[in-house]
Amino acid sequence: MEKLSNPQRTIEIIKKYGFDFQKKFGQNFLIDPRVLDKIIAAAEITKDDFVLEIGPGIGTMTQYLAEAAREVTAVEIDRNLIPILQETLAEYDNVTVINEDVLKVDIAALAQEKNGGRPIKVVANLPYYITTPIIMGLFESGVPLASVTVMVQKEVAMRMQAGPGTKDYGALSLAVQYYASPYLAANVPPNCFMPRPNVGSAVIRLTRYEKPPVEVQDEKLMFRLIRASFNQRRKTLVNGLKNSPELSYTKEEILEALGRAGLSENVRGEALTLEQFAALADAFSGEQL
Ligand code: SAM
Repeated sequence: MEKLSNPQRTIEIIKKYGFDFQKKFGQNFLIDPRVLDKIIAAAEITKDDFVLEIGPGIGTMTQYLAEAAREVTAVEIDRNLIPILQETLAEYDNVTVINEDVLKVDIAALAQEKNGGRPIKVVANLPYYITTPIIMGLFESGVPLASVTVMVQKEVAMRMQAGPGTKDYGALSLAVQYYASPYLAANVPPNCFMPRPNVGSAVIRLTRYEKPPVEVQDEKLMFRLIRASFNQRRKTLVNGLKNSPELSYTKEEILEALGRAGLSENVRGEALTLEQFAALADAFSGEQL
């Protein structure tokens, strides 16, 4: 069967089913075979792999995944796409489609059922309106993960891989880099999609660390400190932490902890590495909140 990455085939299917693109679901379908090849290569999929695809759309990438992997489960929220997927994926017997909101799926249970609890690979051209909850949900929920290879808004990809002192560095950079090592695999312009999105896109692979690159006594406290310091980017770290509704330290306690972590009183949060945030959290850990 002609692949959907051929734009003519995509148009044919859309017309045949009278499909209406839903903006609210972030529906921009890929129509460029070179981009699909790049995603599959970046995800390093083998015939041993179980792959979870989030948002298969009309099945364009699912066709590529089905050919590269042992088994694929694709979770699609839009029920109007289900009959289309039945047709476009008919010749693949290793694909299961679930009609559900991915945020409501028990992915750990799915990994257990389909992959014996071994780490799974997640591949997706993500709906941009829920990129962060999907990615952070995967990392924080303890799902056994090997890697997450996703198409995201270019600007989000830049934030995920940014380091200290750059304009893109922020809470998302640190959250992602605590769990995974990022690799930017491709930049993708709007004309590779139907309909065209208003923003540039990029494919990023996040390879899950077996254990985080830093040790911290209280992970939750570290992330509260990170959020507080980037909520008020222009302020010094001391002021950011003092003004945070999530924390209730006095200025004196903050200055003392900064000193114990070997940080200057005037430092800004955006200059701190993950290691320094971990040291700061440990310096606070002895204190009462
Ligand atoms: N994978 C297809 C492709 O590359 O052509 C479609 C990608 S499109 C950017 C995003 C897809 O995610 C759409 O099919 C949309 O309906 C689906 N989607 C949006 N929100 C979702 C959710 N919460 N759970 C599952 N799928 C969702």
